[in-house]
Amino acid sequence: DFAALAPMPDDPILGLVELFKKDPRETKVNLGVGVYLNEAGFLPLMECVEEAERRLLERHLPRGYMPMSGMPQYCASVQKLVFGKDHAAVKAGRISTIQTLGGTGALQLAAAFAHQFLGVNQGVVSDPTWGNHIAILKADGLEVGKYAYLKADRSGIDFEAFKAALNALPAKTLVLLHGCCHNPTGFDFSHDEWREVVKILVERDLLPLIDMAYQGFGAGLEEDAFAIRLLADEGVTFLAATSCSKNFGLYGERVGALHIVCDNEKEAQVVTSIMKRIVRQEYSNPPTHGGQIVAEVLGDPELQASWRKEVEGMRSRIVGMREALYAAGKAEGLDFSFAVKQHGMFSFTGLSAEEMDLLREKYGVYGVRNGRICIAGLNHRNVEYVAKSLAAVFKA
Ligand code: PMP
Repeated sequence: DFAALAPMPDDPILGLVELFKKDPRETKVNLGVGVYLNEAGFLPLMECVEEAERRLLERHLPRGYMPMSGMPQYCASVQKLVFGKDHAAVKAGRISTIQTLGGTGALQLAAAFAHQFLGVNQGVVSDPTWGNHIAILKADGLEVGKYAYLKADRSGIDFEAFKAALNALPAKTLVLLHGCCHNPTGFDFSHDEWREVVKILVERDLLPLIDMAYQGFGAGLEEDAFAIRLLADEGVTFLAATSCSKNFGLYGERVGALHIVCDNEKEAQVVTSIMKRIVRQEYSNPPTHGGQIVAEVLGDPELQASWRKEVEGMRSRIVGMREALYAAGKAEGLDFSFAVKQHGMFSFTGLSAEEMDLLREKYGVYGVRNGRICIAGLNHRNVEYVAKSLAAVFKA
């Protein structure tokens, strides 16, 4: 008898999509989305992905089960992409990498591993963060706290408050950090700040879990991996969750990876055996198609080069739209420098929930109520309209 069950509230972002669809205004703009849209306003199918699919189709591969840890070539290629192909930790074989169900699946397995096998009971996430972070950690038995991140006026990171929060954590706390392109604020640590962060993580014996869902969308494919590579350089044992959803445009294929950086190769082998056990009882093995596409692209030097170009194209379009929004704000007599100070797909406008409602109701510009807009939803046709609407709300 299920009569006593109460319905769950709708996801606020998905609810926004429904509202947007029903809005009859031609000038409406959807900046609530979490996917990359091209200049034409569509989610593109990347050329290198199409080419990889053509090649896979010609091979008429059977669809047997993947190993529990995923496709070996996929894991090896993604590990090199994340850590750098010549990184000492890669060469030493001390990273256990498994294929996961997107970045979400990697985060979930990381939490399960930390809780069940490392005895970790507490995790902390940035305030604010991607909503699912909290739910994922809680579902795996962790108590979840928040660390200070954003300045009160939302103009950047409050680094002193952040450091104080880290320094106050008990040893063995799992600290979830955004590797690049912080969601939702777009504010990332500088390299020098990361060096300080790593020092505290080591001194306080904390367990870092780096979430990198947007490699290539911030400063570049290599640059965005700075934090993860720094931790590996410093000999820290840590976890990293990465995703091919955004930078391969493979959202629905569910392709990601969990990397567990160990002290040595033997330890990494033990960790892989543990991860296989967790996977076995949760979903047995990952899907075949997405991982094969990524392995095909990264495994062929020419195709990989054209993929890198495509990702760079997406990144520079985002940067261009940030600059265009800033310029259009200037024309309205307002300082939208937040747009150019932040990185990645998202920007925090600093607008309140009520102001975001006004932006939606009066101007048909849809953003998340926490003040987040998706920069990848901007294009040369709508950016001025968005800037004018934002300006009107700021001045209201
Ligand atoms: N982490 C962050 C910060 C994200 O924004 C997302 C996607 N919205 C993910 C992880 C996971 O993405 P996916 O599971 O689709 O790879």
